[in-house]
Amino acid sequence: MEPSISINNLSLSFGSLDVLKDLNLDVGQGEFLVLLGSSGCGKSTLLNCIAGLLDVTGGQIFIGGRNVTWEEPSQRGIGMVFQSYALYPQMTVAGNLSFGLKNAGLPKAEIQERVNRAAKVLQIEPLLNRKPAALSGGQRQRAAIGRALVRDADVFLFDEPLSNLDAKLRADLRVEIKQLHQKLSNTMIYVTHDQIEAMTLADRIAIMRGGQILQLASPNEIYNRPANKYVAEFIGSPT
Ligand code: ADP
Ligand code: MG
Repeated sequence: MEPSISINNLSLSFGSLDVLKDLNLDVGQGEFLVLLGSSGCGKSTLLNCIAGLLDVTGGQIFIGGRNVTWEEPSQRGIGMVFQSYALYPQMTVAGNLSFGLKNAGLPKAEIQERVNRAAKVLQIEPLLNRKPAALSGGQRQRAAIGRALVRDADVFLFDEPLSNLDAKLRADLRVEIKQLHQKLSNTMIYVTHDQIEAMTLADRIAIMRGGQILQLASPNEIYNRPANKYVAEFIGSPT
């Protein structure tokens, strides 16, 4: 499988705190990769490096074969969804979805078409004229996903997009995200600390700890053949 994203010897420090340590990771074209690890292990930092929101301390990041390590975020062809919805409160859902496209100078008709397509996929068409305050948590998160979708990106980065939602909604949206991926077949890196989410969504899971990847394998393999005791306990394998 042609790697869509290659991360080579990536390191990142905040002052004297080494958060990512010589990290290597290849993500295949169209793969749904889940980064799983407990709070503070560096998951968000890694996503932010891939998105170009943080400058790396060392190493390289390739997307689609191109070295993007020092490219601006907007040049990288990425759509990102954060844990907090980060919608603009003063704009309608339609305004939120089209904002980045207007800034990028896309023609009006093209913007309209992309917004309508994303709204249809996410079933938020009736909500396009509402402001975020008038939406439920799940509707807001769909709108946030919509904002990433309209970018028509090859790569999506999701940072714990469901962790602020209640259990029922989380389960529902999990299914929707999986279906969305099957429909779009884009490359996905999805960060979570939730083992069940990882097991149900992932083609492969990367278990992360202390800024490094301990094991990268299918959910089945990780469950049945955990690389070490930490992975076994974290994933809840039978011992
Ligand atoms: P995760 O997303 O896995 O919970 P993070 O990537 O957010 O972990 O954080 C990894 C480590 O880096 C933590 O120890 C966190 O406190 C630290 N950290 C994150 N962002 C910053 C920052 N801007 N400045 C200093 N330390 C940070
Ligand atoms: Mg995080």
